[in-house]
Amino acid sequence: NFLKFFSDLRLSTSASGRSVSVMSRPQYHVAIVGAGLGGLAASIGIAKAGHKVTILEQAPVLGERDQGDINQDAQVGAGIQIPPNSSRILKRWGILDKIEAVSIRPVDFVLRSYKGTLLSKQNMVPYAEERYGVPYLHIHRADYHAILVEEAQKAGVTMQLNSAVTGIDFDAPAVHIKDKPDFHADVVIGADGLKSACREALLGKPDPPHFTGDLAYRITVRRDDMMQIPELRELADKPVITYWFGPDSHVVCYLLQRGGLYNIVLACPDDLPETVNTAKADIDEMHDIFKDWDPVLRKLLGLVKETSKWRLQNSEEMKTWAHPGGKSVLLGDACHSTLPYLAQGAAMAVEDGAVLGALMERIETKEQLRDVLIMYEKIRKERTTRVVKGSTAAREIFHLNDGDRQQERDRQLLEEEPFEGY
Ligand code: FAD
Repeated sequence: NFLKFFSDLRLSTSASGRSVSVMSRPQYHVAIVGAGLGGLAASIGIAKAGHKVTILEQAPVLGERDQGDINQDAQVGAGIQIPPNSSRILKRWGILDKIEAVSIRPVDFVLRSYKGTLLSKQNMVPYAEERYGVPYLHIHRADYHAILVEEAQKAGVTMQLNSAVTGIDFDAPAVHIKDKPDFHADVVIGADGLKSACREALLGKPDPPHFTGDLAYRITVRRDDMMQIPELRELADKPVITYWFGPDSHVVCYLLQRGGLYNIVLACPDDLPETVNTAKADIDEMHDIFKDWDPVLRKLLGLVKETSKWRLQNSEEMKTWAHPGGKSVLLGDACHSTLPYLAQGAAMAVEDGAVLGALMERIETKEQLRDVLIMYEKIRKERTTRVVKGSTAAREIFHLNDGDRQQERDRQLLEEEPFEGY
């Protein structure tokens, strides 16, 4: 069933957590490479498990940047969805209230055809909360990142900035840092995103990300400006996640609390030059791509003054995320980057961190570290592979061209029947 497939992947749960005594267990010094959402989540999980954590981050200041961001000063496309599998973990860590205070709780999840026809409406409040016991949220990335940084620091995590990791000596283990002495720890966790130096060190060869064939325009407009336009008032007024499915493209929109902003992502075929992963977009070109779409969406895009386009990339599934020496492992986009079409990339990274923390909480003897890293991979890999494949499969469903399959998809969504075409 398409709706079930979609909602289960987006909403399903994982990542257990229980408290056990930390007395008499070995304490490790864990180096985490990368202070993205994944690295921070891992640092919280592992510090709460009683270990010492240092994050090595290449940026000179802490803040949310993006995968593959070639312009480090760019203000990154604003919104991120926090599905219940993440909010459950945030609740366990005692930070859900803080997150919720700066988030929006969507009441409905709406799917439309690119012409504007309503295909499906799924209730989020109370549905998602009754089913999963925790909310579905949207938040500004900077707010999410800042709360995780604050929480990591409260848990005793040290942040070493200006530390671009160039390689790992897996035996020591030690982390090589550009223009700085090596950093020694007991365990090294590579959470350095899509273009991961840690992944390349583990593979022992360059492993640049792959083009997926799609790019995203990442846009925010002001909610107040939308309120001035009668056709946009409903979108601006009601916290709803709206998707439009169209030929080779789709659009996702939702409100953000910060700055009264409305977040828009336009996903469409990649036309960036091969050497560039992000670029300032031509607004006329953007209008041209969506010229036959829902008049409401076109009105919305009429408010866009400037935007940029981002190549969507991922990487080949790895045979293993762990170094055989048992002292290093990868997490997040570094080992399972995905198309963002199920809104699960960061959620998977947060789950990775929670699982690592929960397992490291159970280490009773020094010899168990290697087993724990292997177990972490065993628990996580199948699930993250399913999400990566599911996101690619979602692309095919979202982007169907007009024709029999698209009509069948729309009919089944309208009638809430199983989607046989998938
Ligand atoms: P990153 O966020 O890439 O962080 C890596 C960190 O490592 C950065 O701080 C970087 O500076 C640092 N670093 C990199 N190299 C080095 C080095 N050599 N040395 C030291 N530090 C280094 N996910 C969701 O869950 N929900 C959504 O709604 C969602 N929407 C998305 C929309 C779009 C358009 C895109 C592109 C992605 C979306 N995602 C979403 C996915 C999500 O953004 C990523 O999966 C997530 O940010 C990955 O986190 P990470 O910590 O693994 O990597």
